[in-house]
Amino acid sequence: MMVIPCYNEELVLHETTRQLTEVLEAIQSKKKIDDWSVVYVDDGSKDSTWSIIVSQSEADSHVHGIKLAHNVGHQFALWAGYEYAVGKADAVVSMDADLQHDIHSIEDMVDKYNEGYEVVYGVRNDRKTDGWIKKQTALGFYRLMQWMGVDIIKNHADYRLLGSHALEALVAYPERNLFIRGLVRTLGFRETEVYFDVKERFAGNSKYSMRKMLNFAVDGITSFSVQPLRLIAGLGVIIVLLALIAAIYVLVSYFMGRAVAGWSSLLLSIWFIGGVQLLSIGVLGEYIGKIYKETKRRPRYVVEKKI
Ligand code: UDP
Ligand code: MG
Repeated sequence: MMVIPCYNEELVLHETTRQLTEVLEAIQSKKKIDDWSVVYVDDGSKDSTWSIIVSQSEADSHVHGIKLAHNVGHQFALWAGYEYAVGKADAVVSMDADLQHDIHSIEDMVDKYNEGYEVVYGVRNDRKTDGWIKKQTALGFYRLMQWMGVDIIKNHADYRLLGSHALEALVAYPERNLFIRGLVRTLGFRETEVYFDVKERFAGNSKYSMRKMLNFAVDGITSFSVQPLRLIAGLGVIIVLLALIAAIYVLVSYFMGRAVAGWSSLLLSIWFIGGVQLLSIGVLGEYIGKIYKETKRRPRYVVEKKI
C-alpha cells in the first residue's frame, strides 16, 4: 500500500497515479506483491485535489482517499495515512505526491522487504535538483541534528517502506510532536537502505515553505533531544565563571583605589545577561510548549471523508 500526503497537488495527481499504476502493476506481474493500493491523504487542500482523488477512486478500486478537514502539515497527514493502513497491507510505502521520489525504487524496497527487512529507507543520492538555499538548509539541518545527538539517516526524507509489524509499532507511539523519521529509527526492527536519484517536482511549487521547514527542524530537535536544555546549564556555568573573574577584578580595583564609574561596562553586562536569560527562557518555553501540547491529547488530525 502506498501512502501519499497531498496538499494542493491538483497539477501532479493524474501523473502520479498513472506512473504508480504502471510501476506497481509491473511489480505485481513479477509476483513480488499480491496486490497493491494507493492511499492519498488530502491534507486540507484548497484546490481540486480531493475531487481528483474521488474521480480516480471511482475509476480504479486500487485508489483510496482520506480527506482531512484542515491542513495539519505533512507529518500529520502521513500519520493519518499510516493509521489508515494498519491491518490493511503487509507493507506500506510512503512518498511525496510530486514524483520527486523516484518510484522505480519501490521495487528495490519490496525486494528488501521480501528478504526480511521490516524497515527500508529511501536515501537520496545527491541534491542536484535542489536550489542552493534548500541544499544548504538541509545540510545544516542534518549537521545540527547530529550535533544535538538525534539519530537520523542523512538524506532520508519520508520515502520509506514499513512492514506491517513496524507500522503497528509506529502508530502505537502516543506523542503529538511528530518527527516520523526520528521515530522510525527508534523502532529497532531489521532495517536497510535503498538509494535513489531525486527528480524535479513534476508540477506546481514546493508546499514546504521556509516557515514550515524551520518549524519542522525545531520540532525534530526538541522532540528528540534535551541538548538545548543542557546547553543552558553549560552557558550558566560559563557566565558564573566570567562573573567570578569580573568580581576579582572589581575587588582588586576597589582596594587599589582605581574604581571608576564604569557605566559602559555595567550597561554591557546588563544587556548581555538579559540576552542570555531571554534566550534560555525561550528554549525552556519550547519544551514547556511541547509538554503543554502532549498533555492536551488532542487528535492529530480530523478525517472528513474516506473513499
Ligand atoms: N504536504 C502536505 N501538507 C503540507 C505540506 C506538504 O501533505 O502542509 C505534502 C505535499 O503535497 C507533498 C509532500 O508533502 O506530497 C512533500 O511536499 P513538497 O514536495 O512540497 O516538499 P519539498 O519536496 O519541496 O520538500
Ligand atoms: Mg517535493
